[in-house]
Amino acid sequence: MNYRIDHIPLTTTCKRRPGVPMQAETITIHNTGNAKSTAANERSWLTNPGNTRQASYHIVIDEREAVECIPLTEHAWHAGDGSGARSGNRTSIGIEICESGNYAKTLVNAAELVAKMLQERGWGVDRLRRHFDWSGKICPRLMYDGGKWTGWEAFKAMVHSKIKPEVKSVIEMVPKVVRKSDGKLLAIGKIEDGKLVAPVADIVRGLGLPVDWDNETKKMYV
Ligand SMILES: [Zn+2]
Repeated sequence: MNYRIDHIPLTTTCKRRPGVPMQAETITIHNTGNAKSTAANERSWLTNPGNTRQASYHIVIDEREAVECIPLTEHAWHAGDGSGARSGNRTSIGIEICESGNYAKTLVNAAELVAKMLQERGWGVDRLRRHFDWSGKICPRLMYDGGKWTGWEAFKAMVHSKIKPEVKSVIEMVPKVVRKSDGKLLAIGKIEDGKLVAPVADIVRGLGLPVDWDNETKKMYV
């Protein structure tokens, strides 16, 4: 799925892009409420002269692509709960899920994107919010199922299933050579009394950490 950045200008009417910095704490999920519009349509709507609403969102996603409309480090107007410091508008990234086309495919795309975003931030699905959580609006409406929000629980479960377990650095020692799990050569050593002996400084540096050697105290600082 393609991720396209097409930010609306800071000069967009109704202050739809306020340009106010935001350190996001959560991700809020919406449905567009429009059975026909695509992600490209929703992006165009934000800069359509006929649009007189202040509403805006960071990302809109459909069966083909995701479009980032507002930088994720600025706040938007998607949560319907005002501009207080703790509001959803000021603390949450808004993602609009399109209702057009192949909705099942769109939903999978959304789950994959959200999982990636959570993973990048070291977050779990407990960081996900519905528009409903901020303002009480029945949104994302296609996850509402007549008042039970079972679709919402299913979506969170799908996102959770797509979060890949953290890959830790594994150091592999084959005779005379120390490699990282991705194959990167860290150090070349030698066998002494059946043990591999290799320079610690090379290994530490190879893992991307700075090393300092104090010759007077014979100490290595990592
Ligand atoms: Zn919404």
